[in-house]
Amino acid sequence: MLQSMQSYMVLERLGEGAHGVVVRAKELATGRIVALKKVSVRPHQILPVMVFREIKALQHLDHPNVVTLEHVFTHGSAFVMCFEYAERDLADLLKSSRTPMPEPHVKTWSHMLLSGVAHLHEHSILHRDLKPANLLITLAGQLKITDFGQARLFDASVSPTSYPMSHQVATRWYRAPELLYGARYYTEAVDLWAVGAIIGELLHHAPLFPGQNDIDQLYVVLSSLGTPSDDEWPTMRQLPDFHKIHFPEFPKRSVEDLIPDASPSALDLVGQFLVYDGAKRTSAVDALKHHYFQVAPFPVDVTVSPLDLNFASTAAPSD
Ligand code: AMP
Repeated sequence: MLQSMQSYMVLERLGEGAHGVVVRAKELATGRIVALKKVSVRPHQILPVMVFREIKALQHLDHPNVVTLEHVFTHGSAFVMCFEYAERDLADLLKSSRTPMPEPHVKTWSHMLLSGVAHLHEHSILHRDLKPANLLITLAGQLKITDFGQARLFDASVSPTSYPMSHQVATRWYRAPELLYGARYYTEAVDLWAVGAIIGELLHHAPLFPGQNDIDQLYVVLSSLGTPSDDEWPTMRQLPDFHKIHFPEFPKRSVEDLIPDASPSALDLVGQFLVYDGAKRTSAVDALKHHYFQVAPFPVDVTVSPLDLNFASTAAPSD
């Protein structure tokens, strides 16, 4: 059946993304709850590129750890995307707990995140804005990657991409060092840095690299992990902004210094993502085979409460 706004009863406003208002709604025919994202398009205006990207990317994807775009339809001058509904996201799960997450739960979310990211990369899609707030969590305990407004198709046979892309992508705390140095040619490794920062945040119960602005972000990363050597990151000096930004030489530090309470296998996994040279970061597919997921404590099914949403905490910057 062709969907229209008449197919739904709007229940409440959930939030506002860069291009549209998101509401919770009931599908009248089935009683199912869905999320509708309404994007207003003025007459004679074309669909914003971010919306177009989101639709194109999601049409390629079908995975339990990627949000499902169920329908797209017009409503007057607006464009409406109907998504499966999720009650929580990983950012508010982190906020609502005052204690670090139990390790089996960290493994559960990390494994689902990696499964979803592996699916994106297998389909040549860069997400470019992975962060806890873009990882929806259903009450049944499924993690779903969402917000494909910055997603792009890439050519996996060319490494890095043969055409320039914007470096102004990814929310600052999760932005890979090559983007911080202005890279225009990059790979899916930008998503893998973000994955490392997210898993590290789950283990540490605080963001690993909470920079206050773009320069401070680079400062926080370099001072946390140490200044990279040319051997470690051979292409660093060719990055557009490398010679524009100067910091003192920082001593080498390991991820263990950043997350002192994590287990050795957790540190090994995170350390394989938080590598300066994107070409040396582990892939999502390989990370799924990491011994972190093969040793006790094992991932468990996590069901999530819808109730405890009201704890205050710091939020990642939204740029
Ligand atoms: P976005 O435009 O994707 O950034 O979404 C804006 C806000 O709407 C998010 O911060 C969420 O609070 C909410 N939201 C988006 N998609 C969903 C969904 N599928 N289920 C529940 N809430 C959502």
